[in-house]
Amino acid sequence: MSDAPTKEMDRSALDPEVEKALKALDLDPARPLIISDADEVLLQFVAGLELYLDRQGLWLDLQSFALSGNIKEKVTNKPVPIERTPDLLADFFVSEAGKLEAVEHAASALKTLSGRAQIIILTNIPFAQRDARAESLARQGMDYPVIANKGLKGAAVHYLAKQTSGPTFFLDDLPHNIRSVAEAHEPSRRLHFIADKRLAKLLPPSEHSHFHSSHWPDAQTFIEEELSTSGF
Ligand SMILES: [Mg+2]
Repeated sequence: MSDAPTKEMDRSALDPEVEKALKALDLDPARPLIISDADEVLLQFVAGLELYLDRQGLWLDLQSFALSGNIKEKVTNKPVPIERTPDLLADFFVSEAGKLEAVEHAASALKTLSGRAQIIILTNIPFAQRDARAESLARQGMDYPVIANKGLKGAAVHYLAKQTSGPTFFLDDLPHNIRSVAEAHEPSRRLHFIADKRLAKLLPPSEHSHFHSSHWPDAQTFIEEELSTSGF
């Protein structure tokens, strides 16, 4: 949840800062790749956002899968102006990027999967909060390379996938990222994962995904079976 596609984002373009971080990764070309989003996949984004909003006298009305228009004042119940959403989110990331709690079973699933694949966390967090996020994930048992991405994720996934010969898995809660990855790297296996069950109910599974879940043990099984099918 958290980011929305904007017109100026070119699907095929890789942000220079993102490219620099991707280049610095030490990938094993022979091992499969699992590329996972963080917010609402590995970390409880909405639950953390609700705690933050509560402290600002606001609440999130989960009537649709969007933040803009659904953040409301507690006293008046009026939506805060849509133009304020980016500032609220920016402040949320500054104050909470290092504090979000892990999604249940995410760390143990990734730990098991890391025996058969290399794991990269690709998260649309501001560059300034990348380290806080990486430390928070490591503290909660998810010590994997963290790349702060900007915009749609297809270009970054394509960049990583072309350096490896094994299968590439991609997990995200946002349909526009899953579509972007489908377009940029069609052979990827795409999991539409939305940890918060209230949110998951608001959105149909992405037509560009191969699997849909809110439960990490099920996602782990799907990936393990796919790895076995591919001979890994
Ligand atoms: Mg997300």
